[in-house]
Amino acid sequence: MQVLLKSTEVAPETRCTICGQGFVMFWERGTKMERAAALREVETTLRHHHHSGAGPEVHPVKGFVVPAWDGPVAFSGAAILGNAPVWAL
Ligand SMILES: [Zn+2]
Repeated sequence: MQVLLKSTEVAPETRCTICGQGFVMFWERGTKMERAAALREVETTLRHHHHSGAGPEVHPVKGFVVPAWDGPVAFSGAAILGNAPVWAL
């Protein structure tokens, strides 16, 4: 299942374990187990961002989808089914 993440300083739902950057998340519908698996994938993706540096600037400023998605973020299942607001896209 897809998750859309957008960096935020206000009421983040998860944080990067390396730099502490906060993110809000928008979810496709899924079971608890699917969510748990997606969360692990989110953690892995955030760590991979840090291959290019140690600071929070390595994370995309715009919204991004996990697992990686080739199409426009606005058309991802996570954005549509998760009712992501325009500011997150
Ligand atoms: Zn980070």
